[in-house]
Amino acid sequence: MTVTREADVIIVGYGGAGAVAAITAHDSGAQVLILEKSAEAGGNTRLAVSSFTSVIPGASAKEHLGALCSRTLEDDVIDAYIEWASKNVDFVRELGGDPVPYFPGPTFPGITGAEAMLRFRPFHDALQGDGGRRLWRLLEENVEKRGIEVMTSTPVCRLIQGSRKEVVGVETNAGGSILRVLARRAVILTCGGFEFDETMKREYLRISQVFALGHPDNTGDGIRMAQEVGAAIWHMGAIACPLGYKFPEYESAFDSHMPGEGYIAVDRYGERFMNEYGGLYTKWLSVSHFIPERLEWPRVPCFFVFDDRTRLLGPISHVYGGNRGVYQWSADNSVEIGRGWILWGNSLAELGEKMYVPAKNKLEMAVARYNQFCSEGEDRDFARSRETLIPLETSPFYAIEVFPCLLNTQGGPKHNAKAQVVDPWGHPIPRLYAAGELGSIWGFMYQSGGNLGECLAFGRIAGMNAAQEKPRTRENS
Ligand SMILES: Cc1cc2nc3c(=O)[nH]c(=O)nc-3n(C[C@H](O)[C@H](O)[C@H](O)COP(=O)(O)OP(=O)(O)OC[C@H]3O[C@@H](n4cnc5c(N)ncnc54)[C@H](O)[C@@H]3O)c2cc1C
Repeated sequence: MTVTREADVIIVGYGGAGAVAAITAHDSGAQVLILEKSAEAGGNTRLAVSSFTSVIPGASAKEHLGALCSRTLEDDVIDAYIEWASKNVDFVRELGGDPVPYFPGPTFPGITGAEAMLRFRPFHDALQGDGGRRLWRLLEENVEKRGIEVMTSTPVCRLIQGSRKEVVGVETNAGGSILRVLARRAVILTCGGFEFDETMKREYLRISQVFALGHPDNTGDGIRMAQEVGAAIWHMGAIACPLGYKFPEYESAFDSHMPGEGYIAVDRYGERFMNEYGGLYTKWLSVSHFIPERLEWPRVPCFFVFDDRTRLLGPISHVYGGNRGVYQWSADNSVEIGRGWILWGNSLAELGEKMYVPAKNKLEMAVARYNQFCSEGEDRDFARSRETLIPLETSPFYAIEVFPCLLNTQGGPKHNAKAQVVDPWGHPIPRLYAAGELGSIWGFMYQSGGNLGECLAFGRIAGMNAAQEKPRTRENS
């Protein structure tokens, strides 16, 4: 049976961008309804670490953002981001937060204009691990305080388009029960990325086997729905992607967090291939090496190899958010060794056999060469900094398979400076908006804290403009 409801502004997806858009649309006078696919709201936002960006307005910020976003953004989109992101701290404070600076600010300090990038965490006591949750809780409390209606376990499956291409509502399908929700003013898509959609990942990400650290209901629904009504898409290949571990028993991946410097990364042939201390979010570029002649990705998975000294320093994955909070990694990694997640050998030769490294002595050679660099104080192969050069000497030795693991994707429907979704010719699709990581402004290079910063900035832009749309009437729709 089809039931019909109505609201001024419909928000599809209740994570950070959805919450911010809802708060702003409500405060601009609109009656708002949030529709959320999962039983529990919060999406990736609830799982995030801690930081959000702000910027110092001016030419430096513009130059820097333009470069990071691969010059794919129109000037007025960058201007809008700068204007609103520069007030992110005030906004979080108005909601009841107590933001404090978080260092370092810029992720790419060497790129012109980096000094304009600032990073904050939402509360002075929001340390790594609970920062995102604290931000999420703050947003959720503000939605609740305003009495904004939220329907969880209500996935939106399509947009309803009227005669002049305008989006007039959405259709949800919860277990075969169809609900049509009509929007008097506008629909805002804030339903996240495609981290858990294998087809889209294969199509758009130029790398084999990418897993994800976050929210499994982010399956690219908003991209498909927007495409169906004629939206252009952008930034589909852009990702924030550190390295991590994946085990079949768990849907999400585990982040990698080595407790000390005594480890190296080797490919499936036992050869070292990168500076293990390179940029966190761009490491996937180092592992995305492809050998066309053999149709082979020799670095996916790769291995982190370490010794007993490093093992005893602490867990090799963050304990706090271990797989969305459902797993507690053991303090000395012994449980994970017992589970077979971490391989071990009394010698490097024995370990190499368990890793199926084809030429057994390759691993021994890689470790010996690295240890030599440690004693010389210079990594002549990959310029790893001197203070990180700790040799691997104490048996047993260990190895764990490492994969690219998404924090989030950035691709989705393209939007303009007003957060209106546009078609391939740049014309707004009437009454349709998007914000957050669904069609993010971020391109090739990801500034840490940039996604939550964008949820705050474009969430407000979308909420305000959606609320200001003239209500539909028989005459105008
Ligand atoms: C472990 C981790 C740490 C991170 N740390 C940071 C950080 O410190 N700083 C930072 O800036 N970024 C960080 N990120 C990235 C950041 O969290 C996300 O990019 C951001 O939270 C996205 O917010 P959003 O509102 O766009 O999407 P989400 O918060 O993911 O919300 C999308 C919501 O839409 C819902 N949805 C999906 N499909 C539908 C549908 N068909 N109908 C209805 N609802 C639907 C989902 O269930 C979800 O609740 C991190 C990500 C992860 C995974």
